[in-house]
Amino acid sequence: MSAVPHPVCSLEFFPPRTPEAVERLRAARAQLAQLKPAFCSVTFGAGGSNREGTLATALEFRAEGLEAVPHISCIGGTRASIREVLAQYRANGIRHVVALRGDMPSGAGESGDFRYASELVAFIREETGADMHIDVAAYPEYHPQAKTPQDDLAAFKRKVDAGANSAITQYFYNADAYWHFVDAARAAGIAVPIVPGIMPIGSASGLARFSDACGAEIPRWIRRKLDAYGDDAASIRAFGLDVVTDLCAGLLARGAPGLHFYTLNHASLTTTIWHRLGI
Ligand SMILES: Cc1cc2nc3c(=O)[nH]c(=O)nc-3n(C[C@H](O)[C@H](O)[C@H](O)COP(=O)(O)OP(=O)(O)OC[C@H]3O[C@@H](n4cnc5c(N)ncnc54)[C@H](O)[C@@H]3O)c2cc1C
Repeated sequence: MSAVPHPVCSLEFFPPRTPEAVERLRAARAQLAQLKPAFCSVTFGAGGSNREGTLATALEFRAEGLEAVPHISCIGGTRASIREVLAQYRANGIRHVVALRGDMPSGAGESGDFRYASELVAFIREETGADMHIDVAAYPEYHPQAKTPQDDLAAFKRKVDAGANSAITQYFYNADAYWHFVDAARAAGIAVPIVPGIMPIGSASGLARFSDACGAEIPRWIRRKLDAYGDDAASIRAFGLDVVTDLCAGLLARGAPGLHFYTLNHASLTTTIWHRLGI
């Protein structure tokens, strides 16, 4: 169905924190492995709280024959601590990371050797040479802390100039924002692939809370329809699947280089969308 012959489609997970969550992730992973994703990325908690969990989870994916891509966030970290994480990743055969600034837990002051993700990207390049594929984050609706869209685009360019190979976007439901952002990036001389981040819609309240925090906009018509469904989970699911599948199909048809699904460690919505897209 897509016009792009080989879109690079990947999945994102977070390290589980309880024995039940570990089991749930194992079940989701087994199902999602059948989609043959290009890679599976694993988030890294702010302030290094999930550091061991990220590697352990990534290695479980590897053990299943999946390409594992751990994230690494630098806020609050020192050069020595990040060097140690990188060494651990490399010792385990990891050659692809997602490099982020991360967010400090509320109330915590900013300390550490890195202020922005561009500094982390430069450091990873310094440490690993050309040996590591580095993905970075990009924000079609602009990062909530950016003073202006131009500032945020300049910050994105700094990450690419520091050595990032490709980017994954924050999720969005407005494709125009993505294409406008891609055009602006190209005009600014940013040539790397910019892969749309896709958030399947599973629950109305969770999505609204999360979106407010990360600055992703839920268009009014989607919000109104979700509100109107109330606690009718089946209708929310059916509507969400239609909206997100249409979004993905349109993106691929117009030439997006791939899709990166935020699975939230659940298999069902992503699997359905993936099958409907025929990828
Ligand atoms: C694909 C993806 C994966 C993610 N995975 C994780 C994860 O695993 N763990 C986690 O904790 N968080 C994760 N996040 C969230 C991310 O850490 C936050 O959005 C964070 O607030 C910004 O991270 P960044 O890497 O984009 O930061 P940066 O690129 O450093 O940008 C942060 C802000 O600083 C501004 N800025 C950048 N450079 C400068 C400068 N020199 N001067 C002034 N302003 C500047 C930017 O415009 C932006 O507003 C992820 C986000 C995405 C999109």
